[in-house]
Amino acid sequence: GVNLRGLLRRNWLLIATVVSVLLGICLGVLVREYASLSQLDKQYFGFPGEILMRMLKLVILPLIISSMITGVAALDSEVSGKIGLRAVIYYFSTTVIAVILGIILVMTIKPGVSQTADNIDRTGTTPNVTTVDTLLDLVRNMFPENLVQACFQQLINGSLESANAASWPGLGSLNESSLCVSSWQNITKEYMIIGSYSDGINVLGLIVFCVAFGLVIGKMGEKGRILLEFFDALNEATMKLVQIIMCYMPIGILFLIAAKIIEVEDWDIFKKMGLYMVTVLSGLAIHATICLPLIFFIIVRKNPYTFTLGMAQALVTALMISSSSATLPITFRCAEENNRIDKRITRFVLPVGATINMDGTALYEAVAAIFIAQLNDFTLDVGQIVTISITATVASIGAAGVPNAGLVTMVIVLTAVGLPANDVTLIVAVDWLLDRFRTMINVLGDAYGAGIVQKLSRRELERMDLMSDVDVANPF
Ligand code: ASP
Repeated sequence: GVNLRGLLRRNWLLIATVVSVLLGICLGVLVREYASLSQLDKQYFGFPGEILMRMLKLVILPLIISSMITGVAALDSEVSGKIGLRAVIYYFSTTVIAVILGIILVMTIKPGVSQTADNIDRTGTTPNVTTVDTLLDLVRNMFPENLVQACFQQLINGSLESANAASWPGLGSLNESSLCVSSWQNITKEYMIIGSYSDGINVLGLIVFCVAFGLVIGKMGEKGRILLEFFDALNEATMKLVQIIMCYMPIGILFLIAAKIIEVEDWDIFKKMGLYMVTVLSGLAIHATICLPLIFFIIVRKNPYTFTLGMAQALVTALMISSSSATLPITFRCAEENNRIDKRITRFVLPVGATINMDGTALYEAVAAIFIAQLNDFTLDVGQIVTISITATVASIGAAGVPNAGLVTMVIVLTAVGLPANDVTLIVAVDWLLDRFRTMINVLGDAYGAGIVQKLSRRELERMDLMSDVDVANPF
């Protein structure tokens, strides 16, 4: 009837995306069964998906810069301080909840107890990463010494790929995610991979700069207005581009997932690692369907599942591309268009969330660390479990929103409790799948955060609506 048609029209893109996921899986399975593709054919096969990734990554830079600057400049500094504080409290508490949930599950299910580390192949050497160094690097990256360089680290640091490959044999896909080696490490020649870079962009550094810049613009009054309008227009134009990119998404996604299925070499590993994967996935599921919705409902008093449905397009995207940063454009559209979250909130909360708020990653890191301990017959005392919760939280903050980043920061957790860091290689083979699901939960957590911070900040927002004679204080 009329209703169905309306429903289809409003959700055609989501429907097309879901259909293309299913078609892509079928295509991948069929090609795997009946065709034998050469390495080169496989690359051609993945080409449409590669183009989608490139387009999504392309808009990250203008999107983050324009949304952060306008997001901060549009609020007066007192209000943005309050909103920022609320966002940080939300990020932190939900991350800790995710970690605790993960620990409880892995200690009850005990996926690593029935087997030993020797049963699973491992390759690779111990990367040289210490907790203090990683923390220092995280802070160091917040203050890029060169703004232009912060936008395309990868191009300047030409030796990057070989550096990663040398210290992480067996982690081929990491090269693709372009995690960066900081200049400091080049000096010490101790290669270490730091998480705050996404695809060559030092996102954390840019965010810190944009917050400061936005605050200053907001305080400049009439003179700052031209800049505010400029970045506001840039933001709107970027979002229009995102809309165009989204039309290409079903095609890109179809080939992305098909190519992945064709490419995976070892499906048997899933049997061996089954219980571990069940632990991670059920943790993620509980966090997404119980913990987050409960918090949302208590604070916002609206149906959390309707909210989740509104984010569906972003969630499917995250599941397909394993990157919170590259999903960010879609997260914005879903949050603003479907869930009607105030732009003053999304522009501020979503980019920061995509960079530092990773519930899925935190949960995963805690589970994986204890799983590795179980494999090694390593008994953890209470102090070590507390250490794991703290470092898993830090590691999730430090992980970039790019594929497999969580695997890299995992080393912080392992070394902190004295587990061998090269045991990360035990879980590499199944990470591509778990990564997709934890990324989806990361994105969902950011979206819920925007909804919750909006509700908590409604008084400030209303007051600003009343006070402003529109433009400077509130251009939207
Ligand atoms: N891929 C995840 C993300 O982009 C990070 C991770 O590897 O856990 O959110």
